[in-house]
Amino acid sequence: MTQLYDRVALIGLGLIASSMAYAMREKGLAGEIVGTARSAETRDIAREIGFCDEIFDTAAEAVKDADLVILAVPVGAMSAIAQEIGPHLAAGATVSDVGSVKREVVEAVQPHLPDHVHFIPSHPIAGTEHSGPRSGFAELFQNRFLLLTPLEGTDPEQVAKLTSLWTEMGSNVEQMPVDHHDLVLAVTSHTPHLIAYTMVGVADDLRRVTDSEVIKYSAAGFRDFTRIAASDPTMWRDVFLHNKEATLEVLGRFTEELFALQRAIRTGDGDQLFDYFSHTRAIRRGIIEAGQDTSAPDFGRIGTKK
Ligand code: NAP
Repeated sequence: MTQLYDRVALIGLGLIASSMAYAMREKGLAGEIVGTARSAETRDIAREIGFCDEIFDTAAEAVKDADLVILAVPVGAMSAIAQEIGPHLAAGATVSDVGSVKREVVEAVQPHLPDHVHFIPSHPIAGTEHSGPRSGFAELFQNRFLLLTPLEGTDPEQVAKLTSLWTEMGSNVEQMPVDHHDLVLAVTSHTPHLIAYTMVGVADDLRRVTDSEVIKYSAAGFRDFTRIAASDPTMWRDVFLHNKEATLEVLGRFTEELFALQRAIRTGDGDQLFDYFSHTRAIRRGIIEAGQDTSAPDFGRIGTKK
């Protein structure tokens, strides 16, 4: 048991915040965990489940006397929350966020924070397609990366303390410049989500294949797109609106590659297709070697009913 913070305030009580609460409790990392959410319904569910010691009706009340404040709301809601809590933050407190985009969150949050707090943006590379206060679990961050994007001049001691918190929750913490984060995530997360949304939309639109056929034969590959395409619409709308440039850049490259492969199929250029697929297969091996997925066939589903 290593208590790192006396009072942690979670703003937003969805997947990420509730998972943090469970993970912090399990390890005794916080003296007290308090929280708030926008709707009375979510606040009531959180009270009923009990993953926080106290739930407040407003963010302004929740942050009072907290030495760590975590903003765990959709990226587009960060600015209004920062504005609300700014005047109520304790001197010396650390404010962090878990938003999937960093540059626009920094620009939205920083101007509203007083000089006497430390703002350390972060992003857990961990999630599921589920959302809301009932979706959290303590192991969410186990063996997942946590990217910190500290700003110039931030107190290294506070960065080290927040690093310890995430490490204790199971994450592998790394640091990255703000803009580089947004480009990396555009490649590894944001564009793949857009492609999955599109593929599922296309299947729905292709009238010559019936809905029941799509569902019945989905294990042929489509099923894995549907998991990603089931992700929270509000969160993902905000990700694209706030990581516009990097996503558009990666999408441009994607479209060019897609055209090249389309042409290879049309002209019967088997060598090009084979070389391309051999290269991508090696990337998959790298992900498994890094411990970021299972090498079991079909993501380990074989023999299970998942
Ligand atoms: P979530 O489960 O949907 O929960 C979001 C929380 O934010 C809810 O408590 C919700 O309150 C509140 N909220 C929504 N809109 C709001 C608004 N306009 N003003 C104030 N509060 C609002 O979301 P999550 O998955 O935990 O995601 C939270 C943050 O983590 C997002 O910034 C997301 O980009 C980031 N993130 C998500 C994942 C992932 O895979 N899910 C991974 C890494 C980072 P109500 O329930 O009352 O509406």
